[in-house]
Amino acid sequence: MEACGDRFDVIVVGAGIMGSCAAYEAAKRGCRVLLLEQFDFLHHLGSSHGESRTIRTTYPEEYYPPMVLEAHRLWEAAQSEVGYRVLTRTPHFDMGPADNKSLRSVVVNCERQSSVNVRLLDRAAVDEMFSGTFRMPEGWIGVRSDAGGVIKPTKAVAMFQALAIRRGAVLKDHMEVTGIEKDEEDRGVRVSTATGDSFLGKKCVVTVGPWTSKLVKAVSGHVLPIQPLHTTICYWKIKEGHEHELTPEGGFPTFASYGEIYVYGTPSMEFPGLIKIGLHGGRPCDPDRRDWTSNSGMLVAAVGSWIEQMLPGKVETDKPLIIQSCMYSMTPDEDFVIDFLGGELGKDVVVAGGFSGHGFKMGPLVGRILAELAIDGAADGVELKHFRLGRFTEDSNGNAKDFDDQVSSHLHQ
Ligand SMILES: Cc1cc2nc3c(=O)[nH]c(=O)nc-3n(C[C@H](O)[C@H](O)[C@H](O)COP(=O)(O)OP(=O)(O)OC[C@H]3O[C@@H](n4cnc5c(N)ncnc54)[C@H](O)[C@@H]3O)c2cc1C
Repeated sequence: MEACGDRFDVIVVGAGIMGSCAAYEAAKRGCRVLLLEQFDFLHHLGSSHGESRTIRTTYPEEYYPPMVLEAHRLWEAAQSEVGYRVLTRTPHFDMGPADNKSLRSVVVNCERQSSVNVRLLDRAAVDEMFSGTFRMPEGWIGVRSDAGGVIKPTKAVAMFQALAIRRGAVLKDHMEVTGIEKDEEDRGVRVSTATGDSFLGKKCVVTVGPWTSKLVKAVSGHVLPIQPLHTTICYWKIKEGHEHELTPEGGFPTFASYGEIYVYGTPSMEFPGLIKIGLHGGRPCDPDRRDWTSNSGMLVAAVGSWIEQMLPGKVETDKPLIIQSCMYSMTPDEDFVIDFLGGELGKDVVVAGGFSGHGFKMGPLVGRILAELAIDGAADGVELKHFRLGRFTEDSNGNAKDFDDQVSSHLHQ
C-alpha cells in the first residue's frame, strides 16, 4: 500500500497500548500508518502508564485464556524484535471462597483448556507452596498457575511506538482528533484535529480508552456504554526482614483475591521494599474533569484489612506510601468492544475500547486484530462475537454471565 503527505492507509487515533500496538501491526503489514495522540506520548492521564500490569491466563470466561496465550507469544516476539524486555514471568495465584462463582468458573475453565496449566490448592497446600506467606481463611481455595507475569506498561507502550516507527509509521502527539468523517470523494475517511490539521486515511482505528464514548458520540452520534472509572494504584511498605519474600526471586506470585472485594497485586519489583496491592474498582469519572483527590478512604481501609488477614505480619497497613491514579473503561459485562463502528462510517472505522481493567496483557493481540480488521476486513483465528457492539442493542447488559462483576464501581470515595 502507498500514501503521501497527509494521506495514509491506516490512521490510528489514541496512543495508549492498543493504538501503539495497532500502529505497529499495520506498519508491519506494509501500510503507511499515522498514529495521533491528544497529549504527550507516554503521558500519565489515561490507562496505559505506570510500572506494572499483570498477565494471567486464569479467567472465568472461556474465551480469554487462548487470547492471553497468543498475546504472550506476541509479547515475546516484540521483545525479540526490539532487543529488551518489558515482561517478567512469574507464577500467578488466584484465591477465594470455595463457593465463589467467579473462582469456580476459573477452575472449570482451566480444567477444560489443556494449554492452561493450574494446580488447585487447599489451605495446607497454599501454606506449603508459599512457605506460609499467604494465610487463607477457612473455606478458601487457591489456584496456582505458571503462566503469570508482570509487564512494565510505559516501557511497553514506548517499545511498540519504537517498533512502529522502525516499520515506517508516522507518530504525532498533541493532536486531539475532533472529527472523523467519510471523505467527500469516497477515498476513505477524513480525520481532523483541534489544531486544524486534517488527514486522509483509507481506514481509521479508534483506540481512545476512557474517551471512547465521548469521541464516538461526537463523530457518529452512537452512544456506547463505556464508563470511565477513576482508580488508584497503591504501594505499601513491606515490613523489615520480609522484603525478599515478596519479590519474584523470593517466589512471590502475581495474585488476585476473589470474594466480597476483588484485590490484586504484583510482586515487589518497581520500588524496592514496596509492594503493589490494590482494589479492582473505582469511581465513575469524566476523563477530562478528574477529581485527583478521590482515592484513599474506603480503599485504604478495605485493602488494609485484606492485607492484615491474608499477608499477616508482612506489610505495614496504616497507609500506602505511593498512590498513583489511572482509569478503567468499563462495559456493562466487562468484555471488550472490538468492532466496526458501522452507520455511515461502516467498515472504514474500527473501534476498540471498554477494556474494563484487564486489557493491557492483550495489547499485542488486540493490535493485530485491529490491523487485520482495518486492512483485510476480518481478523484471523480469533472469535470476536463476545466483543461486538451490537450485543448492547440486543441486551443493555451485554453478554450474559453466571458470576458477579469483578470490578467494583463507586467503592471508594
Ligand atoms: C490501575 C490499573 C491497573 C490495571 N491492571 C491491569 C492488569 O494488571 N492487567 C491488564 O491486563 N490490564 C490492566 N489494566 C487495564 C489496562 O491498563 C487497560 O485496559 C489498557 O491500558 C487500555 O489501553 P487503551 O489503549 O485502550 O487506553 P489508553 O491507555 O487510555 O489510551 C487511549 C489514548 O487515546 C488518547 N486519546 C483520547 N482521545 C483522543 C483524541 N480525541 N485524539 C487523540 N488521542 C486521544 C488518550 O490520550 C490516550 O493516550 C489496568 C488499568 C488500570 C487503570
